[in-house]
Amino acid sequence: STRIGVLALQGAFREHRQLLAALGAEVREVRLPGDLAGLDGVILPGGESTTMARLLTEYALWEPLRAFHAAGGALWGTCAGAILLAHSVLGAPPQFGGRQDSLGLLDVTVQRNAFGRQINSFTDALPVRGLDTPFPAVFIRAPAFVKVGVGCTVLATARDQAVMVRQDRVLATAFHPELTGDTRLHAYFLEDVVQNKVVNK
Ligand code: GLN
Repeated sequence: STRIGVLALQGAFREHRQLLAALGAEVREVRLPGDLAGLDGVILPGGESTTMARLLTEYALWEPLRAFHAAGGALWGTCAGAILLAHSVLGAPPQFGGRQDSLGLLDVTVQRNAFGRQINSFTDALPVRGLDTPFPAVFIRAPAFVKVGVGCTVLATARDQAVMVRQDRVLATAFHPELTGDTRLHAYFLEDVVQNKVVNK
């Protein structure tokens, strides 16, 4: 079966574990570089991206994650995890000089907390390309992909912002697909992204 790691330094990793297990994947929590060995894909969960970035430095995981991708591994970042995948990050806290490290594996500019204070959190019945019916998408202080490179395909938009994009073996969702029990996007990751199937245009 497909072997998937879930980065388990911080955030909503247990929920991903459960959905993946329900789909028959072999799941492992990733905390150390050695945990990546033999995996087909890795999920970077939601949480708080500046905290997660600090922990990636502490656990020396930046280069191993880039090497995992370069060697053919698939990645999926949800919310804070999507911020970690991006080429550039807007809206990093002022105490970090407005700058924030990221993996740079997805050709997008991501804007943190893109949906403003009034609507910090909301749930949308989100039309997603390739799904027959809308996906119940939970947005929690969510980012948006404000610039999307030519190699990326936008798979969903909410309130005029790109919120789901894919570039080959890298998938990013601004929302939390692990909180509703709907397994369709996890199935998509396992069947299409990990297998690097072409996006249907
Ligand atoms: N706003 C958070 C961040 O920038 C992400 C929120 C989330 O993952 N739910 O890291």
